[in-house]
Amino acid sequence: MPHIIHRLSVCALLLGISCTDNAGRETGDSLALPGQPGRPFPNVPEIAPIGVRLDKYLDVPDGAKGPEIDAKKGCRTEKLGRGLYMVTDNSYQSMFMVYEAGVVVIDAPPSYVAKLNDAIAEVTRLPITHIVYSHSHADHIGGAGSLDLSHNPVIIAHDETKKLLMRDADPTRPVPTVSFQDDYSLEVGSQVLKLSYHGNGHEPGNIFIYAPEQETLMVVDVVFPGWMPFRRLAIAQDIPGWLSQVEEIEKMPFKKLVSGHVSRLGTREDVKMQVEFDADLKAAAGEALKSTPYVDGINPADMGNTWALVDDYTARVAGQCVTTLTRKWKSRLGGFDTFVWDNCYAMEQSLRVD
Ligand SMILES: [Zn+2]
Repeated sequence: MPHIIHRLSVCALLLGISCTDNAGRETGDSLALPGQPGRPFPNVPEIAPIGVRLDKYLDVPDGAKGPEIDAKKGCRTEKLGRGLYMVTDNSYQSMFMVYEAGVVVIDAPPSYVAKLNDAIAEVTRLPITHIVYSHSHADHIGGAGSLDLSHNPVIIAHDETKKLLMRDADPTRPVPTVSFQDDYSLEVGSQVLKLSYHGNGHEPGNIFIYAPEQETLMVVDVVFPGWMPFRRLAIAQDIPGWLSQVEEIEKMPFKKLVSGHVSRLGTREDVKMQVEFDADLKAAAGEALKSTPYVDGINPADMGNTWALVDDYTARVAGQCVTTLTRKWKSRLGGFDTFVWDNCYAMEQSLRVD
């Protein structure tokens, strides 16, 4: 079980030195030097803390895996309904929609934008007439400048996204030509996309994109089907807003969810599972905040160092949170061990200040 970190091996991993004497006995006290690592926290969770490199991460459960990528193509196109397609490299996801006179591209991750052009060309020779941005982040739309823009596509996004992109002045992310505040209905030929804004969560301007006929919803960086949410709750700028958006997604009438990440489409079951995980995370962090003594076992010489007290407390709270979640979730979510510490830290801080 290489992922299991015992107290001694944490000591050795964290310090890069042996924490035992020649007879194999622990020699914790000799390590209490200023600016040097001390003894590990008591009851260190079996999941390795941030900054510890592993020989092997936990195996990814089958339910988190998606269909294989064609190695030659470097990405995969999946039909979601009439004229609507998901493109993915099993790490990022985007969509395009074909109508009678052209193509609407929804997000353009730079990691596979050359392949996105090929994927569209395999389906249609019609020009790109519209681009929709889910939000401003470069990792999802930074390929937009490399699409075929020869037909001067209309670029649609939320007002906040337009503001951010004007600030960023990044040629790989052309500024939207149309923006909206609450809702926008894109009707092209016989195809419809409903865009709506549900407030700040992941970042201001991140929208829901719904194709009613195809019963497909795209919301990026909020739900991670089958997987642990990305670190720091997907770097949510407003954690309470981000959490409530997961619940709002559950209320939408979709059958297929394009989440912007991971290796497969999402289902209603996936959203339900994340609602359950989020609730467990919130409860575990809340309980740990309440039951952990603020000062416990710290070097008396550090008592006047406020940041040291906070850092030590925060780490013990996060450790308890990780331990609470591990038994139930470590084999249910892909990548549980990658970001559980980060997500416990994020929730702990949000509960303290939001
Ligand atoms: Zn993002």
